[in-house]
Amino acid sequence: MSSPSNNASHATATAEGKIPVFDSIAAFREWRKEQTRQNKVVGFVPTMGALHDGHLELVKTAKKECDAVVVSIFVNPAQFAPHEDLDQYPRTFDTDYASLVSTNACAAILLPKVSEMYPVGISLDRSQQRGAFVEVQGLSHQMEGIPRPHFFRGVATVVTKLFNIVQPDRAFFGQKDAQQCVVLRAMIRDLLLPITMRSVPTCREADGMALSSRNRYLTPEMRKISTLLYRAITASKKNIVEHKVQDREEILKPAYAIIEQVKQECKDQGLDFDIRLDYLSLVDVETLSELQVLGESQAAILSGAIYVGTTRLIDNVLINTDEL
Ligand code: AMP
Repeated sequence: MSSPSNNASHATATAEGKIPVFDSIAAFREWRKEQTRQNKVVGFVPTMGALHDGHLELVKTAKKECDAVVVSIFVNPAQFAPHEDLDQYPRTFDTDYASLVSTNACAAILLPKVSEMYPVGISLDRSQQRGAFVEVQGLSHQMEGIPRPHFFRGVATVVTKLFNIVQPDRAFFGQKDAQQCVVLRAMIRDLLLPITMRSVPTCREADGMALSSRNRYLTPEMRKISTLLYRAITASKKNIVEHKVQDREEILKPAYAIIEQVKQECKDQGLDFDIRLDYLSLVDVETLSELQVLGESQAAILSGAIYVGTTRLIDNVLINTDEL
């Protein structure tokens, strides 16, 4: 076990009111056994670090429902394609640690090494990968799974490994990643994992922008217009809720209009970055099948992905449901 900046013992870390940090799975398992001995309900919040208030909201929610909350920080290679931002992904352990201390809600941090998580190694090239992987068929290759066909297999695999280490009673995920919630809920159900899955509403800035670790890639100019995706999907949601629109094309019309308008404004202002819509999607909340017609009171996810410059942003709003 290690503390953020030295190898202080677990006892020292807790005596200071700090959080024990485990980079060894074996050491973590010893800590976990003690929680069982003390009959503690253990909550778990998996993250890739670069923590923001959205992550901290998950930790605080978990603490309300559990005795001891474990946060993992692991940038998972298996969910990145070779052309994606694995190397650039922000790694900010010292500020992450301070943020978790400030919540007063985190009992332990799991900081596993890639070499322990993937004992035979992990190539980003899927054809070179060896070993065991988990895939949730039927839910992983639409929406985010179209541009990122490797993604949910990587997520399901790492979350399974983390569950096997942490053995949580409850696990907490953000609705910001709506499809991830649906995939993991199905995984927990299908693999008969004794874990209660909870999804927590998306934490947003005052202007509606969903908090994301990747927002730090945006220049102030980009950040200003980056609310366009949220504004777009919110306008479509209004079409459903206020105007009772059920036809897909009609529902999505205002979203496309807002995106086109902002693109034009950027061109007119001569901004030196592009905005490119990746997709907009309206799916049933359980099957994740695209809907041509939304049934009356049918639970659905209205989502999208957009490039602002080279940064890819995702967002969603829920229709006729609060929980994923
Ligand atoms: P990440 O570090 O991006 O893998 O995210 C870790 C967890 O935090 C996932 O369950 C995310 O869905 C969740 N999360 C990320 N951003 C937000 C947000 N803005 N609001 C709520 N949860 C979030």
